[in-house]
Amino acid sequence: MEKSKRAFNSFEMAQAQFDRIADMLELDQGTRELLRNPLREYTVAIPVRMDDGTTRVFRGYRVQHNDARGPAKGGIRFHPHETLDTVRALATWMTWKCAVVDIPLGGGKGGVVCDPHNLSAREQEQICRGWVRQIAADVGPLRDVPAPDVMTSAQHMLWMLDEYETINHMNRLAGFITGKPVGMGGSLGRKEATGYGVVFTLREALKMMGIRPEATCASVQGFGNVAQYAIELYTRLGGTVTCVSCWDQKDQASYAYRKREGIDLEELRGMADRFGGIDKEKAQAAGYEVLPGEQWIEQEVDILIPAALENQINAETVQRISKRVRIIAEGANGPTSPEADKVLHERGIFVIPDLLANAGGVTCSYFEQVQCNMNYFWEKEEVLTKLDTKMTSAFKAVSDLARKQNLYMRDAAYVIAVNRVAQACKDRGWV
Ligand code: NAD
Repeated sequence: MEKSKRAFNSFEMAQAQFDRIADMLELDQGTRELLRNPLREYTVAIPVRMDDGTTRVFRGYRVQHNDARGPAKGGIRFHPHETLDTVRALATWMTWKCAVVDIPLGGGKGGVVCDPHNLSAREQEQICRGWVRQIAADVGPLRDVPAPDVMTSAQHMLWMLDEYETINHMNRLAGFITGKPVGMGGSLGRKEATGYGVVFTLREALKMMGIRPEATCASVQGFGNVAQYAIELYTRLGGTVTCVSCWDQKDQASYAYRKREGIDLEELRGMADRFGGIDKEKAQAAGYEVLPGEQWIEQEVDILIPAALENQINAETVQRISKRVRIIAEGANGPTSPEADKVLHERGIFVIPDLLANAGGVTCSYFEQVQCNMNYFWEKEEVLTKLDTKMTSAFKAVSDLARKQNLYMRDAAYVIAVNRVAQACKDRGWV
């Protein structure tokens, strides 16, 4: 079948991205072969006695793409369309994300093919425990550390931890898994971490470009965890958010909410549900203009923050970006298509790429693991200060390289990440 007619395959995309950077770095054949494929892959069957008495067998995965720099790290998703290739791609991207922020972790990802919407809490608990039983010997605080992801929560993490500890002779091993609730091994600052991380890098970009945050305004796609905390810190720095967009569950459509003098974060939070959807009627009553959702990208602003979905800035939408836009800070994973990247590069828009901009989440998960391993928990201020230090130095490393070698920021981030992992493999004598 022709490639263009085949379904999109994220692992092929991850490999193509890697191949391009490997060419730029002139990596040797052995290193290329090692890094374009996962080191280890596990496929397991999880039998579950369902509430109606029948038994169903769920398919589960864990992929450890590379752990040359430290234990693998990455989420576990529950999704009816999960595939091994998706998990491989996500594990690969985790390797690069951890490397670019220079935390001593590798890349992993896991999943179970299931739809939690149609499963009781007890059935989900059995899936969590079953997944851990199958994989317990190959994961752990020193090998591979899972976390929540699509449709898995802190509760799922606690069930998994409990099973893991039971298998391991009741030893308390909270460093096995991250994303736990505060007070049960979770870290303060985790909920702020990704959004704040985006703005730490944005603040540095503005500084580098000689722009005062107070003189800027931004439009944000999304009003979930990442978007809300990005807005919180950006407005605290003096910036003005004039537009946010989100999904309306009732109307099955997205809307953009605009207030030219600046949105009021707390006011909108008071109108939002836990999925990050804003109540349209209440927003209208509070004086917000309600626009079609896709208009978030057309706003006359200095900064765009995509913080919702992948592939939002693409060959078509990129043409609608206002001439005023100077910076795009990618809160979401994969919000920009390669075709749009070309246009942004030509137009000289400064892009803070996802693997750098949204790495605050995994960095704080790393802090959670460190705190668990020593059973000593830091104050929120300490967590966020350490996060700022990490994000700022990662931004500086990437932007310095981009400037020195005249690279697009995304390429510079990849060059740093791939180089670090390749070097670790070499130093260990693997290649
Ligand atoms: P979330 O579920 O809390 O929020 C998602 C938001 O996107 C919601 O406000 C929703 O209404 C909105 N949305 C959905 N469809 C939309 C549409 N068509 N148009 C406009 N808005 C739409 O998710 P989150 O945790 O904030 O994650 C957002 C993105 O950031 C994802 O790409 C995720 O992979 C990435 N990310 C999240 C973290 C994290 O720590 N949460 C870390 C790294 C990357």
